[in-house]
Amino acid sequence: MTRLGFVINLDTCSDHRSCMLACKKQTESFLGSHYIETFTAMTDDYPRPNTYFIPVPCQHCAKPSCVPACPQGVFSKRADGIVAVGDTSVCESCRDKPCVAACPYQRIFLDPKDGRVGKCDGCAESIDAGGAPKCSTNCLGRSIMFGDLDDDETMVAQALMVYEDMGGIHRLRPELDNQPSVYYLLTGRYFQDMDTLYSPAWHNA
Ligand code: SF4
Ligand code: SF4
Ligand code: SF4
Repeated sequence: MTRLGFVINLDTCSDHRSCMLACKKQTESFLGSHYIETFTAMTDDYPRPNTYFIPVPCQHCAKPSCVPACPQGVFSKRADGIVAVGDTSVCESCRDKPCVAACPYQRIFLDPKDGRVGKCDGCAESIDAGGAPKCSTNCLGRSIMFGDLDDDETMVAQALMVYEDMGGIHRLRPELDNQPSVYYLLTGRYFQDMDTLYSPAWHNA
């Protein structure tokens, strides 16, 4: 069975933010939203700061808390693993927006103009047409990989195998039951989780 997901190599990400720009262009997401956003992790102080960058899209959780949180069924978990976004016009009359609070990765954004929400849909249209997510194909560091995590022949599966031997595979907030489909590769450095990350997002991107 197909299990689509991302493998993101933090050893090679240099914070170009070409992923963010490509996502903006693809999704035309509203002002102030970043369906993928690079966070900065700083684990040591000046003069030898140990810095690396963590691009964070929707984690396409195996157990997505956004799905049951929405009373209108806007989100759905596809058979291939993508957490899809349906008709968001119903959000306009949804007063409390419980989906936003339900996502522990803060990956659901609210457009204050019309009350609709938005998030990364895994570039579902592109992948259904045989393509790949735009953040992945436009990544200058070739750090964002996407594919079937359960197929040993894919680049994502092979990258995981290599890093598994080095003990360099991480996921965000593993203590939760969400089971993200986004895996981060990082060797030789302490992996910082979301609580301590610094976001220098381009709020006008
Ligand atoms: S990261 Fe948030 S929005 Fe994405 S699937 Fe998980 S709970 Fe839903
Ligand atoms: S804001 Fe939209 S997606 Fe979120 S809970 Fe309300 S209807 Fe569902
Ligand atoms: S998969 Fe598509 S929508 Fe999701 S972060 Fe990448 S470019 Fe944006």
